[in-house]
Amino acid sequence: MNFERFDDLFRSLFRDVVAEDDWPQARLDVLGREGVLGWTVPTEYGGTEVGDLWLIEGYESVTAACLTTSFILTQRNAAIQRIANSTNSALKQRWLPEFCSNRVFTTVGISHLTTSRRHWQQPTVTAQPTTGGFVVNGEVPWVTGAEFAEFIVIGAILPDGREVLLAVSTSLVGVKIQPPARLLALNGSRTATLDLRNVFVASDQLIAGPSEQVLKQVGVGGSGSFTTSAIAVGHARRTIEFFRAEAERRVELRPIAEGFAEELEAARCALRCSVDPTSPAESRLAVEEMRERANSLAVRSAQALLAVSKGAGFVSGHPAERQLREAMFFLVWSCPQAVLMANLQGFQKQLSSA
Ligand SMILES: Cc1cc2nc3c(=O)[nH]c(=O)nc-3n(C[C@H](O)[C@H](O)[C@H](O)COP(=O)(O)OP(=O)(O)OC[C@H]3O[C@@H](n4cnc5c(N)ncnc54)[C@H](O)[C@@H]3O)c2cc1C
Repeated sequence: MNFERFDDLFRSLFRDVVAEDDWPQARLDVLGREGVLGWTVPTEYGGTEVGDLWLIEGYESVTAACLTTSFILTQRNAAIQRIANSTNSALKQRWLPEFCSNRVFTTVGISHLTTSRRHWQQPTVTAQPTTGGFVVNGEVPWVTGAEFAEFIVIGAILPDGREVLLAVSTSLVGVKIQPPARLLALNGSRTATLDLRNVFVASDQLIAGPSEQVLKQVGVGGSGSFTTSAIAVGHARRTIEFFRAEAERRVELRPIAEGFAEELEAARCALRCSVDPTSPAESRLAVEEMRERANSLAVRSAQALLAVSKGAGFVSGHPAERQLREAMFFLVWSCPQAVLMANLQGFQKQLSSA
């Protein structure tokens, strides 16, 4: 696989103008046509099931062309991977073949099991076992592309504290998708809250559990994973490309541009080594360390791009202001406590060394 070719491909195919706030339907169709949507679908269900290294490279390439599209892709793939790792054969048989194209969309609402509302006294989504299934109640705080989903993979907590993962059809009685929240960036992801009121979900929609830490049972990725680092690195790559274009015309910026380019290559290399099981143990980073490094690069490079773009970059619609707003996403998306603390320590160090 030649990812340089992929970079060119995505950039040329993503030439369509998509308003920042619009769902990128045509771009997702392109990913379907190019076989990208089948990357997480096992071959026995018609997909291409690529390895982790491939996935990381692919996510980085798509992000360097369009963050909104790549982010939506990660949430879709997170749902598919959980189903693929489930022992529910009927569910796999029914849905996995559909996910090789863009005919059917699915997504996840699982952050309340990892990084959202963890300090609340009561679980935000509960599942009461009943004859033939579960009665689910609560509010799923974050669901990207909820309005486009046939069903959503959600996490819920039983009265005894164990967790379940369920495929909840958006057409079930009691399911209500709230209007998408107005966000700092990524409004095109149409991220919304899902209300669930006495929703009966049949046992044949059970993906995993009941168990403690159900996400580990169907474990792939997870919060703060290498996937999230790949997206942050891809975003930094695009920012640094803008910076380098500016440096072409302004000789005094060249050493800074070169410094960022070197740091980017080092981060890409660290990410590949960390994901590749054949690389020596000493060259691999822990997921949290990699994420902190990727976040830091995404945020600092976006700040630098704004600084060199001056007031013009502060005007709505300039690439610098968009890159900066989008870079802030990495500070809040899928950041477990260890990543949050590492981000904060990074900020504090910058201030104290200023
Ligand atoms: C654009 C976007 C799209 C997303 N899409 C998805 C998706 O598709 N699927 C998915 O599962 N997740 C998704 N997420 C969720 C994401 O991964 C994180 O879980 C989320 O950003 C965590 O933020 P929160 O406000 O829910 O966190 P919370 O921890 O609920 O924090 C909310 C507030 O609670 C207070 N607080 C926080 N911690 C404490 C504490 N320890 N003690 C006291 N008060 C506290 C603070 O005032 C804070 O502002 C998305 C997030 C964003 C921003």
